[in-house]
Amino acid sequence: MAQRRVRVREAWCAGAAAVLLLALLTAFAAPLATAATPAQGDRPLRSVTLQLKWTHQFQFAGFYAAVAKGFFREAGFHVELREGGPAVDPAVAVAEGRADFGVGTASLLLDLAAGRPVVAVAPIFQHSPFVIVALRRPGLDDIPDLRGRTIMAEEHSAELDAYLALADITVDRVPHTGDVRDLEAGVVDGATAYTTTELYDLVRYGIPYQVFNPREMGIDFYGDTLFTSRQLARDAPETVRAFRDAALKGWRYALAHPNEIIDLVATRYAPGMERRKLEFEAEEIRRLMIAEVVDVGYMHADRWRAIADTFAAAGLVPPDLPLDGFLFDPTVPEPDLRWFYGGLTAAAALVLAAFLVTWRFHALNRALRHEIALRRRAEAELTRQAITDPLTGLYNRRHFDQEAGLAVRRARRAQEPLAVLFLDLDHFKQVNDGHGHAVGDRALQAFADLCATTLRDIDILGRYGGEELAIVLPGATAESARQVGERLRELMATLSVQADDGTPVRLTLSGGVAALDAGDDSIDAVLGRADAALYDAKSLGRDRIVVAPPPRRISA
Ligand code: GH3
Ligand code: MG
Ligand code: MG
Repeated sequence: MAQRRVRVREAWCAGAAAVLLLALLTAFAAPLATAATPAQGDRPLRSVTLQLKWTHQFQFAGFYAAVAKGFFREAGFHVELREGGPAVDPAVAVAEGRADFGVGTASLLLDLAAGRPVVAVAPIFQHSPFVIVALRRPGLDDIPDLRGRTIMAEEHSAELDAYLALADITVDRVPHTGDVRDLEAGVVDGATAYTTTELYDLVRYGIPYQVFNPREMGIDFYGDTLFTSRQLARDAPETVRAFRDAALKGWRYALAHPNEIIDLVATRYAPGMERRKLEFEAEEIRRLMIAEVVDVGYMHADRWRAIADTFAAAGLVPPDLPLDGFLFDPTVPEPDLRWFYGGLTAAAALVLAAFLVTWRFHALNRALRHEIALRRRAEAELTRQAITDPLTGLYNRRHFDQEAGLAVRRARRAQEPLAVLFLDLDHFKQVNDGHGHAVGDRALQAFADLCATTLRDIDILGRYGGEELAIVLPGATAESARQVGERLRELMATLSVQADDGTPVRLTLSGGVAALDAGDDSIDAVLGRADAALYDAKSLGRDRIVVAPPPRRISA
């Protein structure tokens, strides 16, 4: 039972330890695992599609760099960069599962408000390149001067809608032709434009232009933003994180090596595109990314909130648009308490583990002590059984011989006297025969108890044969041993054992005494003489003590 309890406790402890270990591993490993870049190696690459928002140009330089420099591959991805254009809406493509990631703009918030499950992963441009351009000419100096004029606008130019709404002007919108020369031709008064590209065209064509920038009205939106679907962000955040990190690494590379990536774009992605245009674009993008001030991909919840509020003020999204789940792993989130709670959990787990280990140790120690005590008791019992006679509890003959031998050597060393007394019950066979063996046993036990209680502690008492006891009396002379024998004989006369029929059974004893002699080379000689004296006592009529004479010296 006790053993089973111990085993159950052990099982419980092992279980608790396993749970603790798991808790510890989870607390420590989870943040590590999410921070880790997926391992390289023979692992099959995950195919991922990135839907660009426009045609190939330096605008997507970082993604090209991540492909060309193997950053995506290192992160475990095979990436397909899908070219965009006027007919492509990356938010729809990602929301509908046709692409895993997309490059969008701040108007992702309009998609969010429209119920598209998009998640902003990393803004590439800290400022939007979106502006309105117009010819420089009299009467057109400020944004309100555009009121009622014709503007060609791109499809997804929500932030310019917000701009115009906040400036409280309405314009006559016409589709964008993609050709800035329409301004000079007077087809339109203004056009939506990317500072990164259209301005180059204006300069190149020598068109005197002016820029109406929403930032002048405090509208400062993120530009191109890497985003994904809510499903991917929720189900595979480590994939999203790994992809983001590889893409941002690509962008840092592109910023550090613009000429190399310009060559790449000019040869591989947009063959025939003017190198100087790409250089212009690269320079403008550098200004929008302000990488020397802000980490590439830096995103803040407050900024998205402000963008949402601006859209709301322009009536493009509902007020207080909930942004829950829209920001993927923001760079500056609420204070990251994961490590704090992780640490707290780990600390608590450690304390608990320490407690359990201590408790377990204590329990084991207790069980061990118990075990040792049991074993000691068992060993003591085995030893006792080995040296005692089961019926009387006296030393058995073997052990008596050992103890007697030691006593003789001690007496010799100390030159002290020692005597041996042999006692044998008289006519004991008749007790067995007359009253049965059990009564004989009881008589034997009574005889042994009588001797044991009468003798001194230093005396050695053993059962030598059937009903024959031997006693070593250290320090005793033959005479004092005789007196001990006489005392026991007298006491024996007062002792009676009850037979089964109730009659008292009385017994007498005979004894032989011998003293250690200087010539004795062992205990056997003394025992021999005592035995001979006992034999004499029997011969002389029993119920008496006979002292053996000292051994005869053989003179040379
Ligand atoms: P004596 O006076 O000559 O010693 O006569 P005795 O009957 O005692 O003779 P003996 O020593 O020859 O007999 C010993 C008897 O002791 C024989 C045996 O039946 C009995 N005996 C020996 N050991 C035990 C024992 O453990 N229990 C009992 N009940 N009897 C025993
Ligand atoms: Mg006898
Ligand atoms: Mg006998």
